[in-house]
Amino acid sequence: MTTPPPRPRPPPVPRRAPAPEWGDDGRWNPWAALRARPHVQLRLDPEAALLGGAMLVQGPGLTVVVLDPALDRRSRRVALAHELVHEERGGGCDAPGLPLALDVMVARDEAEVVREVARRLVPPAALRHLLEQRDELGLHVEPWEVADAFDVDDLTARAALADLAGP
Ligand SMILES: [Zn+2]
Repeated sequence: MTTPPPRPRPPPVPRRAPAPEWGDDGRWNPWAALRARPHVQLRLDPEAALLGGAMLVQGPGLTVVVLDPALDRRSRRVALAHELVHEERGGGCDAPGLPLALDVMVARDEAEVVREVARRLVPPAALRHLLEQRDELGLHVEPWEVADAFDVDDLTARAALADLAGP
């Protein structure tokens, strides 16, 4: 009696390398950024809808980004990017009912976060390139086209265009 020769093992399936946080074209990947921050957890909770779809909850040693599960894929991506930028900047608070002086500070902080998210998701060089390409064809670029090209929402596309146009 002979034992059958061992069956050759199938070659191991190569694991897909995780996406880098920054793409070749300078685009930021907020999902990769989330993976790179083990102290930040992600939760889906409809409560987040009360604060515009997303919120950042920070406690000692723990940070939670809460996203409204009703957000579509693109809005979820932008909302995550927004909360991660808040987290980097040392928190931020989108809570309503703040005293007026704090309200003004929060509004300024908000505007800066929106601009920063726009720059990361719609890198100025890549946006300029798109605008130049269209310009050569005599075409105007609408915000929705920028949104489609960079996988962002309309607000972020408009912020990126405004940022490029300068003050
Ligand atoms: Zn915010």
